[in-house]
Amino acid sequence: MILRSGGCCNITTRWGVAEKEFDLVTIGAGPGGYVAAIRAAQLGMKTACVEAGELGGVCNNAGCIPTKALLESAMLARRMKGLAQFGIKVGKVELDLGAAAKRGKRVADQGAKGVAFLFKKNGVELIKGRARLAGDGKVLVRNGDAEQTLKAKHIIVATGSRPQELPMLKADGDRVWNSNHAVFPASAPASLAIIGAGAIGMEFADVFASFGTKVTVIEALPRILPLEDEDVSEVVAKVFGKRGIELLPGARVEKAEIEKDRVRLEVKTADDETKAVEAERVLIAVGRAPLVEDLGLEEAGVKLENAFIAVDRRLATSAPGVYAIGDVAGPPLLAHKASHEGIAVVEAIAGDEHAGLDYDNIPNVTYCSPEVASVGLTEAAAREKGLDIQVGTFPFSANGRARTAGSVDGFVKVIRDVRYDEILGAHMVGPHVSEMIGEIVLARCLESTVEELERAIHPHPTLSESLAEAALAALGRAIHM
Ligand code: NAD
Repeated sequence: MILRSGGCCNITTRWGVAEKEFDLVTIGAGPGGYVAAIRAAQLGMKTACVEAGELGGVCNNAGCIPTKALLESAMLARRMKGLAQFGIKVGKVELDLGAAAKRGKRVADQGAKGVAFLFKKNGVELIKGRARLAGDGKVLVRNGDAEQTLKAKHIIVATGSRPQELPMLKADGDRVWNSNHAVFPASAPASLAIIGAGAIGMEFADVFASFGTKVTVIEALPRILPLEDEDVSEVVAKVFGKRGIELLPGARVEKAEIEKDRVRLEVKTADDETKAVEAERVLIAVGRAPLVEDLGLEEAGVKLENAFIAVDRRLATSAPGVYAIGDVAGPPLLAHKASHEGIAVVEAIAGDEHAGLDYDNIPNVTYCSPEVASVGLTEAAAREKGLDIQVGTFPFSANGRARTAGSVDGFVKVIRDVRYDEILGAHMVGPHVSEMIGEIVLARCLESTVEELERAIHPHPTLSESLAEAALAALGRAIHM
């Protein structure tokens, strides 16, 4: 059912202050809030989006987009070194991370302009300022000294998240960075210690090491990228090791001293030894925390759970008419999850009983080199559940396209449920796997079997053939291995 607006009007309160009325207001213009606003406008709702910062949120302005721009520079910087074997001789190569960061900023600025264009095109009203729930369907917006109240039938909180702090080493933007500082560096530091080997830690390790920084990564859990399949972590660790990136999994920072020109860390290693790590800068990459402060949540009756806004299956909070999506509403903290929640919540508000998203089919990508992409159960999780599985793995070293590109590190792994031939999960590490994971997500969305994944004809020579080969391997009949 499509909800049609009864039209918008400005109402005048008892005190004569104009209140703008909307069907729906989103707080935050990140990939959750701006997508929800556009979908709501498409469905005929009179919609406003309140944003205090740049359009596109963290993803566009300090996260996904500028980091991918840096990673593109990093990839080019690395490839420059091995060009001779491709028949290309270049002169002296000079690397300038500051210039790469400026390009990342330009790409982000374009994205923000793109969101402004989409708002105009769809008739979403952008209201600049900081929003706060004022109860009774009201949102108070402050912009400097100016203040206005919006009234909305539906309010979606999509305020996102910020870097998690490490109490012993507070990010100051100077010696101690968080991702907001690392994404626009003026130059590459001589050395960088990164605390945390999740997606953020590993992506920045790749960028800085490619630009000549001596990188040490300290991870508390026993392996890097601890949420990924174990074999995947192992490949990345091996490749990073070869590139001279020091990885200290199972390690803890016990002491930190910030000096004028460096930071000295005392690290307890996995072998229980004390190791001194000195670096020009330290990057804290230990997760992200939801932005729930100064939103009037408590007064409006919006409850939290584990620091995130508590939502039900329909993304409704404990306050009537107030919804929450994206990072602020809980993990996984991913832009594509936020956008799909935005669409789902708006469609549900518009009366679509089937609106929603499949939380078991959200892909994860880490854009370091080799790239990492996964969806569904890991091999270990499937075994823990006691499922009868067959695992098919195909290495990129046996894939023609990967060999022509000179990128043979990694593999594709398909986890197959023996009883129903279901694709329980897929885990990949290697070239362009960020693009390949979409096929598995679609196959799972269509409830395709492993057999069907193999039967679908993949063009030759492509990296995607590795998916079909891994499917064949899971069926016990690999051809090219
Ligand atoms: P994360 O939770 O993925 O990883 C943080 C890592 O830090 C963990 O492995 C954790 O064990 C480790 N850690 C925590 N405290 C530590 C300590 N004191 N010492 C050593 N290690 C410690 O978080 P992240 O990498 O900061 O990313 C934040 C969020 O943003 C994640 O949800 C992530 O999925 C998302 N993100 C996604 C992408 C992407 O999709 N490519 C990129 C960046 C961030």
